[in-house]
Amino acid sequence: MRLFAGACAAVVCAFVAGATAPAHADPLVGAPGLGDPYYPLDGNGGYDVQHYDVDIDYDPPSRLLTATTTINATATQVLHMFNLDFAGPPVQGVSVNGLPAGFVRNGDHELTVSPSLPLLPGLPFTVVVDYAGPMRDTEGKGWTFAPSGGAFAAGEPHSATSWYPLNDTPLDKATFELHATVPAEWEVVSNGVRTEDTVHGDQRTVSWVAAQPIAGYLTTVAIDRFDYLVQRRADGTALVSAFAPNAGHQRELEQRLPEILDFAENLYGPYPFETAGGIYLDADIGFALETQTRPIYGLWSDLQTVVHEVAHQWWGNSVSVRRWSDICLNECFASYTADYLWPERTAGADVDQHYLQTIREYRDDAEFWRIPLENPGAGYEFTSVYYRGPLFLHALRRQIGDEAFFAVVRDFPAAHAYGNASISEFRMFVQSRVATDLTGFFDAWLNRTTPPAPEYLFPGLLRS
Ligand SMILES: [Zn+2]
Repeated sequence: MRLFAGACAAVVCAFVAGATAPAHADPLVGAPGLGDPYYPLDGNGGYDVQHYDVDIDYDPPSRLLTATTTINATATQVLHMFNLDFAGPPVQGVSVNGLPAGFVRNGDHELTVSPSLPLLPGLPFTVVVDYAGPMRDTEGKGWTFAPSGGAFAAGEPHSATSWYPLNDTPLDKATFELHATVPAEWEVVSNGVRTEDTVHGDQRTVSWVAAQPIAGYLTTVAIDRFDYLVQRRADGTALVSAFAPNAGHQRELEQRLPEILDFAENLYGPYPFETAGGIYLDADIGFALETQTRPIYGLWSDLQTVVHEVAHQWWGNSVSVRRWSDICLNECFASYTADYLWPERTAGADVDQHYLQTIREYRDDAEFWRIPLENPGAGYEFTSVYYRGPLFLHALRRQIGDEAFFAVVRDFPAAHAYGNASISEFRMFVQSRVATDLTGFFDAWLNRTTPPAPEYLFPGLLRS
């Protein structure tokens, strides 16, 4: 995610966890949350999802959604009851393995399902949820209406619950496919590869398939009167980008996508997905989001934004956080890529100079150092990681040297591809590659709320 000035009130400051960790005793009931320190009720216990098939029928003028979501999962314990995360329209029915199941909605986003037969550990099961009703505007925290009359889904750390039921945690990534039927004059864009686009009478049905595992907040759908740009990478990979009616001026920017993918691939290893692109909205949402393979861009997105969201495909998407307190793994890297590595490698910018100037400017600014990079606190995930994250990584690079640094940032995403990782795993990974003890360095940069000592602030930079 990349925020634009003034977006705090709308986006950052709204994410405040209010719930406490769920206390659960019944061993035959899946936990309603996974105990993330910031969002304890996100995700659910007792099962592991392999695949989502989301089938929606959406009518932009009436804003009515009629949908069926099919979830293929495997039980990890005996389950008499389990939860899905869902905050969308009224549920009309739930079945498990083809048999009608009981269900009740509770809390902000819990859908508790009682299968008619208990589920057994290690065995696959299928849940089908039918739901329908008018959509609500979450204003950038999920389903959002576009000025054109269309709609899109985007938001971090949550958005998917507004339009389909899921296990809403980065810890349970699954493959995803969308089948959307809309009036024929509308277009539908989502993650992955478009496998169908057919007009039948006055309706259009479009299918998109994401073949690599994806976290809920990285799924998206956008319904608008899009124009398309189709490009190819040198290796033949097709890149599909979409532009809402007033976003056509961004086409020139998106034409640089093949170059940006090559640039990021040089740094971080092979691009982890089978396709890429972008969705350029005609909406002032105050942020851009790295929705998998095809980021969502609000108005005012620029080259730096595209580089940032492309870097997330490695840092955040292929390798996802274990807990939201690990957010620096996403944003520190995406920001360093766009703010330092891109200008350095494409324009020869003196990034040491930029780094030193930033330190000079903010060293005595207590507010600048107030929020730690590791575990910034619920509601503060999208703050210091942007402005101090790049400084941390540049200092790390100068501390361990280019050779070790660029080997680490290439090997770490490969070691955790399509999975999860934490900041402490990153620390250990770096430490395993260098002889110097980095404990003090990491503590100063990641955990302290004051400027690092000079030895960590200027490693290898002020020796003259
Ligand atoms: Zn970001």
